[in-house]
Parts: sequence; C-alpha cells; structure tokens
Amino acid sequence: MSFDVTHCTLCPRQCGADRTKTVGYCHCGTEIRVARAALHPWEEPCISGETGSGTVFFAGCTLGCCFCQNREISRSAVGKVLTVEQLADTFLRLQAEQACNINLVTGSHYTPWIVQALELAKPQLKIPVVWNCGGYESPEILAMLDGLVDIYLPDLKFYSPETAKAYANCPDYFETASKAIMTMFQQVGALQWNGTLLERGLIVRHLVLPGHRKESMALLDWLAEALPKEQFLLSLMGQYTPPDMPLPDKHLNRRAATFEYESVREHAVELGLNGYGQERSAAAAGYIPAFEVE
Ligand code: SF4
Repeated sequence: MSFDVTHCTLCPRQCGADRTKTVGYCHCGTEIRVARAALHPWEEPCISGETGSGTVFFAGCTLGCCFCQNREISRSAVGKVLTVEQLADTFLRLQAEQACNINLVTGSHYTPWIVQALELAKPQLKIPVVWNCGGYESPEILAMLDGLVDIYLPDLKFYSPETAKAYANCPDYFETASKAIMTMFQQVGALQWNGTLLERGLIVRHLVLPGHRKESMALLDWLAEALPKEQFLLSLMGQYTPPDMPLPDKHLNRRAATFEYESVREHAVELGLNGYGQERSAAAAGYIPAFEVE
C-alpha cells in the first residue's frame, strides 16, 4: 500500500493531514514518539508471563476517547523521538531483558514506520509481536501488519453509533472495529500456546463502561456469533475510573457498579466465551481467571 505522508489517510479517520507540516487528528507528524518502553507485568497473564511484556507505548492516538486515562500520552506529541533503527533496537533491548513479547501499544498512526522497524528487527526477534490497539483499524493498516504481528490485542469499545460518537467522535466505530477484528482473526487464526504463554492468536478486550452494560452484552453477543468461541480469548475489564475533570456525560463520572460488571461477566459465561476477568478492587491492577480457558 502506498502511504502519502503529505495527505495521511492511514487510519479510519482519514483526516488528510500533511504530516510533514502539521499533526493529524492523532496528534502526530512524522517523528516516531515513544512515551515508554519497558517490561510491564500487568497485561493478561498469557501476555505478561513471569518476566513481563515488552511494552512500547506510542504517543498520540487515532481515537481520543473522552475518558482516556492516558491523555497526557494520547493527546500530545510527548515522549522520546526515535528513528526506525532506534525503534528496532528498542525491540531487541526488551527481548534481551527477557520480555515475553514485544507489545506495541497504540501504534496505528505510526504503522509504516513500525513495519520498517519490525522488518529490521525480525531476523533477531525470537518472541511474539503483539499489536495492542483500540480496535479502530483500517484495512490498509492491517494489510501492512499481516505476517509481522503474532498476537492481536484489540479493544472492542462501543456498540451503538451514538455512544461511539459521544465518547470518541467516531460513529462508525463498531462497523469498523468489527470488520478489523474479523481480519485480525483471519490473519493469526486459532490460539497457539507455549505452555501458559500465548504465542499466536487474538485477545479481544472490553472495558465495561458505567451505564452501558446492555451495550457490553451486545458486543459479547456479536463476538460469540462472529468468531469460533474456543479460538480466541475475551479480556473483560471492570476498572473504569473517571478522569480527574468532570465529563458532560453523567454516566462517565462514576465507576461501573459491581452489579454492572458482574452482569456482563455472567453474560460472557452464559455465551461460553473464554478468557479473563479483571480484579475490581481499586488497589489491584491484576487479572483473575474469571472464566476458564479451555
Ligand atoms: S493516522 Fe493520524 S494523520 Fe493519518 S489519517 Fe489517522 S488521524 Fe489523520
């Protein structure tokens, strides 16, 4: 695929920014900015393992959810500027530090450069590559990643166009993300394990939002219908935390009630979905196996 950096239509926003002169909706120009690259123990257990996931957090974001917990990273061009070669070296440094995988977090808007870095590093890279994203991916981005990504870890955030419009200004979110998730599954196929670590496959994350449990259930219904249940994992998250500043939407200024999260979790069990639930106590950031992985 050709990528015109002077008229960027890389992601589904298709904002057309000239990234050589300004930044796009994603807040990014042509510099690769990495906010953090380090071992991270708090991903799903099959990603974190004993030693941690080799996370690379990219600055900027194509979604820009109003409740984002990482807005200092996602809404501005912060972080260290790396060349493609330095990014490839970062992957190899994380591998040398015993990372279970290279976990590329919110990198969609840098895909052409990340692909170059992966191609440079791949001959020496012996661990899986994880694409950790908001689910709002274009077919072009996924085509670039085909053959380079081993594990897709997308969010599936919103079901209704109204919610997606209100919270992330993308009424086409579900239409786009559902197609993207199908493509991701077609690329990587059924789950492949190395002991307790995932080597290849798809994990779909969903954060239960306060006031939206019916939408959560509709998303789970779609997943159960669209994908073979035993061939992917669901990661159900319940730790929505209101941002520091009050939001206009009244639902988003409180945490999800235990009842809301539990009713969605029970629905996942009824549908026969496999995967993880999340410990809901404020102090704990870890995952608990809420439903058994076959
Ligand atoms: S990647 Fe950024 S600049 Fe390109 S279309 Fe998407 S939001 Fe616009």
